[in-house]
Amino acid sequence: MAAGPFGTTVFAGASGWVDRLNNRRRDMEGLMNQALPTAGECRVAVLLFDQDLKVAHKKTATDSGPLWWQRVNSQADRDALYLVATQHLREWVFLGQTTREYAAHPSTGDVVQYSNTRNFALQRAAHDDVWTIALVAHARSCFEYMDRHRFCSKCGVPSTVKQGGHEIKCGADECGLSCFPRSDPVVIMLAVDPATDRVLLGRQAAWPPGLHSALAGFMEHGEAAEEAVARELFEESGVRVDLCRYHSSQPWPFPYSLMLGFMARATSTDILVDQHELETAAWYTRDEVRAALAAGSHPGADPLTAAAPAGGSDPAPTLRLPPKGTIAHELCQTFVAADPICKF
Ligand SMILES: [Zn+2]
Repeated sequence: MAAGPFGTTVFAGASGWVDRLNNRRRDMEGLMNQALPTAGECRVAVLLFDQDLKVAHKKTATDSGPLWWQRVNSQADRDALYLVATQHLREWVFLGQTTREYAAHPSTGDVVQYSNTRNFALQRAAHDDVWTIALVAHARSCFEYMDRHRFCSKCGVPSTVKQGGHEIKCGADECGLSCFPRSDPVVIMLAVDPATDRVLLGRQAAWPPGLHSALAGFMEHGEAAEEAVARELFEESGVRVDLCRYHSSQPWPFPYSLMLGFMARATSTDILVDQHELETAAWYTRDEVRAALAAGSHPGADPLTAAAPAGGSDPAPTLRLPPKGTIAHELCQTFVAADPICKF
């Protein structure tokens, strides 16, 4: 996993990697006036997404990174920017969405491609490209949130976007309701059976063969994260826990979740799967989890399923785990390392 202020998670964005300019974005006009004249010194560019929220990128990463940047050259470009803004070191970065097609960059000849954001981010995780991932996660969550909140949830009047995409305000003066793009908290956890030193993993029927993961579920209103851990584990698997410890968090922009990772101490081991949620769940030893993680790092493995490339050998076909770049992967790594957080 990438070294840096994020600790062990990849999608996290609250750090020195990205300056979100929170205290300045109320003055978008002033912000852009400051940024644009310095284009000769700083990169002033737009991270593009298409209407399906696929991210624009180059066919192969270059010295300027993997993302497709659209230079801001005209007032029309400027007017199209409704989501801003981050500053990374000396670079101004604006986040934007477009319906235009770009075949190739006029000066470099780079070919633009649009890819599923999740696939793209997990591929960048394999390169420890934390900054790119943080930007993409930030932009995608904001776009998704705005797309689902085009009308005031109180009075139904069309909303307008403020603060560079960080405030959505009702267009009716008599209402004026403001809401702010927010994250949906999800707990994700490994239950550990201290008596046998095994962890609980489950799988959904739609997943690729063999793929298992930590159990997870949305928190409910009025519920503490620890309570959600215990409730979700019991509802999905029938397993009871009596203690849990916080591990780490990971923004997950599909559409705008925040994954909260925990280790939990199991007080029961009988499994009764909720068939609406899971196909199966089972307890796995440290050696089994270690072998599955090792199989996932097979050169050329599919970053989404950790499966070996077609025609290649697959050293662990029966158990596969989420790839590097996911918090479930990190929870499994922590268990394999016998970290004190999972010793109960
Ligand atoms: Zn309203």
